[in-house]
Amino acid sequence: MEINKIKLIKIIDETAIQSRVKEIATELSNKFDNKKPIFIGVLNGSFIFISDLVRNLSINCEVDFIKVSSYKGQNTTGTVKLLKDISADITNRHVVIVEDIIDSGLTIEFLVKRLKGASPQSISIVTLLLKPDIAKLSLPIDIIGFEIAPDFVVGYGLDYDQDFRHLPAVYRLEK
Ligand code: 5GP
Ligand code: MG
Repeated sequence: MEINKIKLIKIIDETAIQSRVKEIATELSNKFDNKKPIFIGVLNGSFIFISDLVRNLSINCEVDFIKVSSYKGQNTTGTVKLLKDISADITNRHVVIVEDIIDSGLTIEFLVKRLKGASPQSISIVTLLLKPDIAKLSLPIDIIGFEIAPDFVVGYGLDYDQDFRHLPAVYRLEK
């Protein structure tokens, strides 16, 4: 597929995504039955994943969002900036962080550290995609949709300069 002269190679098709999302929703429904978890989507990338995910749950839940930006310069460990905080009070609540992709792990570590400060009862991490060859994680990821190669990917919420978020599958950009 070619859009605006950028060649996209499909790596995970829509059917595979939808069936994995259903499996994840079932696992979370079992884990949090009668616990009314609060799902926190990390904007902007996770907006499609979280909306498909919660629509496949068989339990009650709340939904909130947080927005961060991460900057990684060459030879720096990188910094994460909070752009929009959650609105809900998560004290004593079961929190499920919903990420689109974990690359270096910097963003998720920042988020867990920050949300822990509000004393939730538990924090679980769900990510649609993980690049295991790059991620340097000091914390466990509870649910991973798909492990992928260390290529830049777009679609299903993920962008390249704000393009391609609307695509229902995941693509890598042709180099
Ligand atoms: P990390 O902090 O784990 O290095 O990166 C996390 C964030 O970087 C993700 O939430 C996402 O916004 C962005 N990111 C990392 N890899 C990719 C990628 O392959 N494609 C896109 N579109 N964003 C990515
Ligand atoms: Mg993200």
